[in-house]
Amino acid sequence: MKAFRAALLRFADDGSALYDEDGLLLVGPGPDGRQRVRAAGSWQALARNYPGVAVEHLPGRILAPGFIDLHVHFPQTDVIGSPAEGLLPWLAQYTFPHEARFADRAYAESVAPVFLDELLRNGVTTPLAFCSSHPASVDALMAAAQARGLRLIAGKVLQDRHSPEGVRDETAQSLVDTEELIRRWHGQDRLGYAITPRFAPSCSEAQLRGAGELAAKYADVWIQSHVAENRDEIRWARELFPQARSYLAVYEGFGLLRERAVYAHCIHFDDDDRRLMRSTGAAAAVSPTSNLFLGSGFFDFEGAQRIGLRHGLASDVGGGTSFSPFHTMLAAYCVGREGQTKPGVSLSPASLWWQHTAGAAQALGLEGVIGNLQPGCEADFLVLDPRATPLLARKVAHAGSLDELLFSLIVLGDDRVVEQAWIGGMPAT
Ligand SMILES: [Zn+2]
Repeated sequence: MKAFRAALLRFADDGSALYDEDGLLLVGPGPDGRQRVRAAGSWQALARNYPGVAVEHLPGRILAPGFIDLHVHFPQTDVIGSPAEGLLPWLAQYTFPHEARFADRAYAESVAPVFLDELLRNGVTTPLAFCSSHPASVDALMAAAQARGLRLIAGKVLQDRHSPEGVRDETAQSLVDTEELIRRWHGQDRLGYAITPRFAPSCSEAQLRGAGELAAKYADVWIQSHVAENRDEIRWARELFPQARSYLAVYEGFGLLRERAVYAHCIHFDDDDRRLMRSTGAAAAVSPTSNLFLGSGFFDFEGAQRIGLRHGLASDVGGGTSFSPFHTMLAAYCVGREGQTKPGVSLSPASLWWQHTAGAAQALGLEGVIGNLQPGCEADFLVLDPRATPLLARKVAHAGSLDELLFSLIVLGDDRVVEQAWIGGMPAT
């Protein structure tokens, strides 16, 4: 068993933040041998229960749950920061040519550690990741994550039409490949598979139907895709699927809305779409830096809360501009404030943080497993230095409440705040 004494941030079941200025986090093997949180709370209340356990004292540090990134593209690691005239030109000019390189397993293997290092440096301990359309890209990323003991969910992109040579896959083979990858990787150690139609316009009806059949056959596998990001894309989806009530309803028609289905963006929704997400148990991966960068629009947090649409935060690198959850939380705050196209709201610092940790875990159907530091959770956590920069040190010295402390970190923080990430009870290297 390992014990840490530091400030401790975690979340109650209702999403409110719990904070112990002087806390204890105890980590040890659970019944299955996996390293889990055994106890978490105030030092004064808990320390006497563990007299023989050596304690690592981390003065001035905060222990916090590892962040979960609900939507990120492994093969776009090097596409980040590429300028273009919106989503569809950006895909054609930068993204598809780059993703084509991932047909080569050796190339994919060379990028996988860069991608995982960058996530961990920024405090992301679980990504829900798109790979490219090539099975080799999935094998490379899964193997790299497995070697580090990381909890990762990823899948091979399906895109059998309206995609250039090099990334376009073949309908029947793409479904065979997907099922083989599910059998090879899903449930191995801490890995999970996600059936991954790129977006409805890039998939034939036969491919979407096949994806839905696999989603029904493997009920605990995840589903990930994009929806309602950009008005040109929505127009295109409506032309291709004129019988569907909305772009989102296309996915429903193929059995692709259910628990463990995570859809990036969900910007241009009406209340019927939001209710459809809620009633099926699907969740939105809100990707604010990407939406601002590509000029796609503003996620309606008020609408999501009013209807009860499950949602959490995501980087969407390479459309997103940062791997840092701090940058994503700040951008989410700004998107929430925007009040010209939808109601403006002020998301609380604790709510922003929850959406990137325990709330994101709930969106994945993994509440109580990751994204929190309650007893029983897997031991993925961060050691944060709230005084990592001179300005932060000044700012947090004057923080009069937990909200003020968390908001200082959200606005001024980046990878420098993340002193160490722990993965399954072991320090990430
Ligand atoms: Zn995306």
